[in-house]
Amino acid sequence: MSESRINFLKDELNKYAYNYYVLDNPLVSDFEYDKLFSELKELEDKYPELITADSPTQRVGGLSSSFDEVKHKYRLYSLDNTYNYDELRKWYERVTKECGDNVELVCELKIDGLAIALRYENGIFVHGATRGDGISGEEITQNLKTIKAIPLKLFEKADIEVRGEIYMPVSSFEKLNKESEKPFANPRNAAAGSLRQLDSSVTAKRDLSMFTYTAIVEKAETMPKTHWDSLQYLKKIGFKTNPNIRLVKDIEGAVDFCKEWETKRFDLDYATDGVVIKVNSFAFQRELGFTSRAPKWATAFKFPPEEISTKLLNIEIGVGKTGAVTPVAILEPVLLAGSTVSRASLHNFDEIKRLDVRIGDRVLIKKAAEIIPKVIKVVDAPEHETLPVYKVPENCPECSSPLEEREGEVNLYCSNPKCPAVIRAKLEYWVSKEAMDIDFIGPSVISQLYSLGLVKSPVDFYKLKVEDFLKLDLVKEKSASNMYNSIQESRKRPLSRFITALSIRHVGKETADLITSEFTNLDELMNASSESLSNIEGIGEKIALSVYEFFHNSENIKLIEEFKTLGFAFENTVQYRTDELSGKTFVLTGTLQSMTRDEAGDKIKARGGKTSSSVSKKTSYVVAGDNPGSKLDKAQNLGVIILNEDEFLKLIGEADEKKY
Ligand SMILES: [Zn+2]
Repeated sequence: MSESRINFLKDELNKYAYNYYVLDNPLVSDFEYDKLFSELKELEDKYPELITADSPTQRVGGLSSSFDEVKHKYRLYSLDNTYNYDELRKWYERVTKECGDNVELVCELKIDGLAIALRYENGIFVHGATRGDGISGEEITQNLKTIKAIPLKLFEKADIEVRGEIYMPVSSFEKLNKESEKPFANPRNAAAGSLRQLDSSVTAKRDLSMFTYTAIVEKAETMPKTHWDSLQYLKKIGFKTNPNIRLVKDIEGAVDFCKEWETKRFDLDYATDGVVIKVNSFAFQRELGFTSRAPKWATAFKFPPEEISTKLLNIEIGVGKTGAVTPVAILEPVLLAGSTVSRASLHNFDEIKRLDVRIGDRVLIKKAAEIIPKVIKVVDAPEHETLPVYKVPENCPECSSPLEEREGEVNLYCSNPKCPAVIRAKLEYWVSKEAMDIDFIGPSVISQLYSLGLVKSPVDFYKLKVEDFLKLDLVKEKSASNMYNSIQESRKRPLSRFITALSIRHVGKETADLITSEFTNLDELMNASSESLSNIEGIGEKIALSVYEFFHNSENIKLIEEFKTLGFAFENTVQYRTDELSGKTFVLTGTLQSMTRDEAGDKIKARGGKTSSSVSKKTSYVVAGDNPGSKLDKAQNLGVIILNEDEFLKLIGEADEKKY
């Protein structure tokens, strides 16, 4: 009676644990589980001879004095790895040379945790060990038993050895670090530290889990013939496997998988540092064999590192065109995700205070896709305490005026509306690609023109003569006339570019497009009431008020008058406003030959279409020029229509104009 009850309880509890920890699908409440667990514990205390290795009561930890070293029955090989797609292709070439064309591959996320080997006999977990050097490792069976995603008893009486990766979910890692006095550097270290505890009751308290990814099957009801089948088999007999796996026809399929996860990985609750690619067929695997250290039938693609530490040399203060004063981290140059980084964002002074960043600290910087690097934390080091706490400046670094706070904003602002740094920043914006797009005039030219008193306001650019540029350092005839011509050329920009260039608060390029499209000339826009502006689709009250106030400020009115005296007509000349592309969204990538991407965007908008900076299922077309970026890959993955430049020109009806 007791024995059958014990067996029943063991099976029930194991089933509940499996559903909870492996399938993420709890069947009973914690209370019900605990009740059955106590009943089992009581019975086992009464009849200790009935305690078996697969009993859930054996998951509770105990003390050991050291870990025994054990020799692995099957060696755990390392994997060759690369950061480079071409090397992946070369690896595949070697594979196909040996096995013929079209060798199927399995792609799996490489979990950044701790590799372990587990042994099951007759379906019962008998022992487990760390990877060690691959030939022998440390026996940590007791600790592994506390991890509930590791089955103590399989659904089949198989003899099998499996490999898996122990990991700590990122959310649990963050929680643990908040509670502990000595925080771990990353989830991997936290998992390792938790697993190698001599007191396994500590391990039991940590939220560890395991993904199983390799099976060496000695005895089973049906022997899997491919790696893909073996993953399905592992799942079937009770192991937790990673759901993000894919069977692909060839290496290009694997490359797609890698590219996809390079950015998607940040959404996962566990760390992954790459993709493992394996030849699917076991027969081919045997044919390919091993080198002295790694299998020839598998390789790993490593994601570029997105975080790295470096020394903070200084904190520079920048003054923007709005007068906002922002701190910039000046770093000892370091290679991050394929590019050298020497500056990073510190956001604002609150952030410096929050992170307690001090000049001289080692800081961790991070780069996510297409975002400028930012400082995310100070690396724990004894020097930190000896460095002076960073003091938020009280005065503008340029004009020494006091800095002021603005309601509802974290930034500090220079209180001087005539601050030279603000004026220069506005002039720099005036010439930028997004605004009037004036070539040959950069920050250093502007700085000189300003200090010589030649340009104090954007209108002054258009009063310059060729000889004025010759007064600048190192400027000769040729570049002087380039600068002059480039400025004159910018007179032809559409009205919306001019509105953008004015640096009206809350009005960027997109907003300027929206506003301008409603008026035939600048006078109409200047006379528009704040209400009529806010009636424009996409324009809120805040923007409307800002535009209204800008054009009712006497200095700005004077500025516009000056432009008119210089011959600016300010008619909205964007012609052929049609709706032939209405409802279509375009994404532009790479370099176009006949126009810039901004110009292409203007042409799309002039025909009622929209542009977006990222590819999604809703994208109608991706226009790809030379050296397109990852957007092209994404478009291919999503099956979005891809146009080359000629096809794009044909679509917008400009193909013929470009013929000689
Ligand atoms: Zn200032």
